[in-house]
Amino acid sequence: MTILVTGGAGFIGANYVLRKRQNDEGLVLNLDKLTYAGHLSTLDSLKSDPDHIFIQGDIGDRQLVEDLLTQYRPRAILNFAAETHVDRSIDGPDAFIQTNIVGTFNLLETVRSYWQNLSVAERNSFRFLHVSTDEVFGTLSAVDPPFSESTAYAPNSPYSASKASSDHLVRSYFHTYNLPTLITNCSNNYGPYQFPEKLIPLMILNAIEGKPLPVYGDGQNIRDWLFVEDHCRAIDLVLTQGEMGETYNIGGNAEKTNLWLVQQICAILDDLLPHSAHRPHANLITFVQDRPGHDRRYAINFSKIKQHLGWSPQVTIESGLRKTVQWYLDHQAWCDQVTSDQYERQRLGLTATQ
Ligand code: NAD
Repeated sequence: MTILVTGGAGFIGANYVLRKRQNDEGLVLNLDKLTYAGHLSTLDSLKSDPDHIFIQGDIGDRQLVEDLLTQYRPRAILNFAAETHVDRSIDGPDAFIQTNIVGTFNLLETVRSYWQNLSVAERNSFRFLHVSTDEVFGTLSAVDPPFSESTAYAPNSPYSASKASSDHLVRSYFHTYNLPTLITNCSNNYGPYQFPEKLIPLMILNAIEGKPLPVYGDGQNIRDWLFVEDHCRAIDLVLTQGEMGETYNIGGNAEKTNLWLVQQICAILDDLLPHSAHRPHANLITFVQDRPGHDRRYAINFSKIKQHLGWSPQVTIESGLRKTVQWYLDHQAWCDQVTSDQYERQRLGLTATQ
């Protein structure tokens, strides 16, 4: 089956595309704008794969998307493309509104007119799967029950507000136009190929270089951690077996404080790098001023996808973190490549540049 993946040069999208092609599951059209977060080097292993077609472009470019749909007639669209970094959304929300809201709207409009002209059989088997986040639900106290699919939306950052808007648009296209849509809301992903501005890879790379490990506030903010391979497996199940118009929460069953997580990374590095001059790496932990509007706790109730589709996470946080740290140690060339832009290196504090 031919599918169109958007944002397939980013972290989760690329893991999904690589999985699809490794399993030889049909033609993958990969539409990505290649912002600072998208990297073709992640897709190097697909360079000579005739069943992976990369197109650099914007999900909001209606003519481009229409041409792709008309030429390749995909049976499903998986929308991973987004601006995704909360800190960047605080510094400059415009791109978040443009891609996450306006871009998703343009994509939906283009897909709607394509879908309406398909045969009845094609229309019925078509899927539009929108990948979203648990951050749309806002924040939890220590005693609140985890987010379920019926938790009210209460986004607190420009990022989560833009994702919430896109979720509402996707939902409305199902109820208004019968477009066969699915939405997934997942917790924090981690694993190979994550751009090193996000917590886990940033801490790994800073620790390797003996740089400070900046932890927001008191380090007690809690996130639920989902290994990216578990997430991709869940997306495939929702795509093939999910009920149209439904949303599915996907969680890692791994609620941890940020401080625990960073300490764990340090302990793994102490173990994997016995001769490092920076041992014990935990000495590099530095508490920094908290992020404005920092949500205290996220937790996911994933009983719906478990009961209806038989999915649950298979990778524990302990083993997933170890695999991830090892992956970053083994892929320093990839890290250097994606952070090679001088501005990015300065901003991420990966090198002393003065
Ligand atoms: P990412 O930032 O690593 O990748 C995003 C990709 O989208 C990049 O390759 C970028 O070039 C591309 N892109 C951005 N704007 C585009 C546009 N206008 N048109 C086409 N491509 C564009 O993000 P990620 O971590 O892989 O996240 C993928 C999706 O999963 C996002 O929708 C995000 O909101 C959601 N999500 C991520 C997490 C997480 O922990 N990473 C958690 C929950 C939900």
